[in-house]
Amino acid sequence: MSTLTIPQRLLMGPGPTNTPQSVLDALAQPTIGHLDPVFIRLMDDIKSMLRQTFLTENPLTLPVSAPGSAGMEACFVNLLEPGDKVVLAINGVFGKRMLENILRCGAEPTVVEFEWGQPVDPERIEQALKQQGQVKLLAFVHAETSTGAISNARELCALARQYDCLSLVDTVTSWCGTEVAVDRWQADAVYSGTQKCLGAMPGISPVSFSAKAVEAIKARQTPVQSWFLDMNLVMQYWQEDAPRVYHHTAPVNSLYGLYEALRLVLDEGLETRWKRHSNAHALLVQGLEELGLQMLVEQPARLPMLNAVKVPPGVDEAQVRQRLLQDHGIEIGAGLGPLAGKVWRIGLMGDNASEERVSGLLSALAEVLK
Ligand SMILES: *Cc1c(COP(=O)(O)O)cnc(C)c1O
Repeated sequence: MSTLTIPQRLLMGPGPTNTPQSVLDALAQPTIGHLDPVFIRLMDDIKSMLRQTFLTENPLTLPVSAPGSAGMEACFVNLLEPGDKVVLAINGVFGKRMLENILRCGAEPTVVEFEWGQPVDPERIEQALKQQGQVKLLAFVHAETSTGAISNARELCALARQYDCLSLVDTVTSWCGTEVAVDRWQADAVYSGTQKCLGAMPGISPVSFSAKAVEAIKARQTPVQSWFLDMNLVMQYWQEDAPRVYHHTAPVNSLYGLYEALRLVLDEGLETRWKRHSNAHALLVQGLEELGLQMLVEQPARLPMLNAVKVPPGVDEAQVRQRLLQDHGIEIGAGLGPLAGKVWRIGLMGDNASEERVSGLLSALAEVLK
């Protein structure tokens, strides 16, 4: 076997995005024991930085040792028990994945569907909450990566509170790229992923649970169906001011990477980072329009970090992606589900939300389209 050589790519799809060199360097530091005092201090620092980036004081804020989908599953399996009523908004792929989770928990979903490319409409959610009565959980995706639409999380979480149910928000694509204000929204459970706007390696899923969510977890009648994701157990490894109890071996080096990526975000400042993402988005949209291309999502529901662009008639969308990758080393994403063949998905996440990267992509795209 030859040694590993990976090509340089510019990752401008739906994630992962490029990992900054200092994060790659952090990953390469020596592996130490997952109960080493140095590592335990690092865990506490990571929890504190996660709280700062989620704008929350929730004590139960920690990184799940697996990708975003595991964070999603962690939220559902801990909060739901068989027979619980859930109102679920679906406006893309990730809402559908939430439905799979709800069904596997034995809960009873009421699905409110929206056209792909549309945000979740709070009025229709309110109707469902009103009709159902006694709903345990309202679940929705803040930033739908499959379509590029952003929904109003603050308003949706407020509805959940008004109807006395918990709120669960997917913030995988929004976190660290636009405002995710867990405490101000009073969201009860959120999860994210490291490979999108945080701009770190894939494979870790930060989650945060409110006091109300923790109460619901503690009041369960049945054990959490997943041993690995059971927060009652995971907490004993991640809790501060108490002896750490071995649960699983933390991905030690990945957590070095997470630490460094969070440090970079806080060093830049959250608001500066959000602004950088929205500036890059504005530049991209302007350039795409100059090329005669149209966006799928209408304002004001456009996500800054994920841009779904309509494929013009007569253009072979797969060939365009292939040429971008082969000739320019740039990856962009294809459409999913009903949008397959109809859109490209251009991601501006982490370091790639920059004027330089946007200009580079636009000129490569112009050349390929010619
Ligand atoms: C990427 C993504 C996920 C899944 O994350 P993985 O790390 O791929 O498991 C979930 N929700 C949304 C909105 C995403 O964009």
